[in-house]
Amino acid sequence: MKIEEVVRTLERFAPLPLQDGFDNAGLQIGLTDVETTGVLLCLDVTEAVLIEAMQLRCNLIVSHHPLLFKGYTSLTGKDYTERCIIQAIKNNIVIYSAHTNLDNATGGVNFKIAEKIGLNHVRILAPKENILLKLVTYVPSTYANKVRNALFIAGCGNTGNYDSCSYSSEGRGTFRAKEGAKPFCGSIGKLCDQEEIKIETILPAYKKTEAVKALIEAHPYEEPAYDLYPIVNTWAQAGAGVIGNLEEPEPELDFLKRIKKIFDVGCLKHNGFSGRFIRKVALCGGAGAFLLPQVLRSKADAFITGEMKYHDYFKCEADILIGEMGHYESEQYTKDVLRFVITEMFPYLNIHISKENTNPIKYL
Ligand SMILES: [Zn+2]
Repeated sequence: MKIEEVVRTLERFAPLPLQDGFDNAGLQIGLTDVETTGVLLCLDVTEAVLIEAMQLRCNLIVSHHPLLFKGYTSLTGKDYTERCIIQAIKNNIVIYSAHTNLDNATGGVNFKIAEKIGLNHVRILAPKENILLKLVTYVPSTYANKVRNALFIAGCGNTGNYDSCSYSSEGRGTFRAKEGAKPFCGSIGKLCDQEEIKIETILPAYKKTEAVKALIEAHPYEEPAYDLYPIVNTWAQAGAGVIGNLEEPEPELDFLKRIKKIFDVGCLKHNGFSGRFIRKVALCGGAGAFLLPQVLRSKADAFITGEMKYHDYFKCEADILIGEMGHYESEQYTKDVLRFVITEMFPYLNIHISKENTNPIKYL
């Protein structure tokens, strides 16, 4: 199994175009056209993690947090990042990171946290905007199913918990074939009036090339007509944070104590109790305070995140219960998501979850 195949699998689950603007998710270091000897999964790449990878004979490290965030003009080993880069290159270890693309993916980091807490009916809290295209094409009715299915396979028609979404309407298309054409019907120089189905569907913009290729291959015309235009709708399939419901309402203290236990939290910070019962829970792994406006609008009873600033607490007042469990603690199960994605595709690959606790924050 080549490393590039493992990378492709990860990117099918968490496409790189889903990452946030500041991020640098994706391949960090190394050449991927080599056989995978083993995969080590971690949250952060540290020198200890690199040693662990060498001991386990893993030539691929998949981390959540990217190792590289800036350009380098020298590599001298003056900090841990540079030492990790040098060690990885010297030892032929490939480093790949699935960061905010995995945070924003359906089934990603936040869905895992929701599963651990026991939420059901989980959906994206802040769906991505300006990522969708509308694709419209016109197909002879006998080919409508073929083209529609090809578009679905290429990634069209997905939203929330639904796939294969499209709309079809009947109409008539006209064309006149000129010299040199091989028309689907009619003959050269004669106007053809053909019964057609208009198919409309949506797709994320990053699937455009794949979808158009599938359309052209499945369509019987020499020059298939299609329109692609951007739409401003949000996409329920990808975005930041999630929201879901507990099976049974839970008192605030019981709820937070349960979180503390599940995530083995050294110090769980929270705001004042108001006596409410917790039923609807919004959450975001890592630093989730940027979602506070959406969280408050969602009317959730509680917001669980990795870290927040002092002044963020004032923005919530008594509107919602805040639980801050620590950045590392909130994202620790990301390694299980990565393992699931890789194992599902490559069940016999040698995969290890790092035993290194890379949390740089300690508690007294
Ligand atoms: Zn993080």
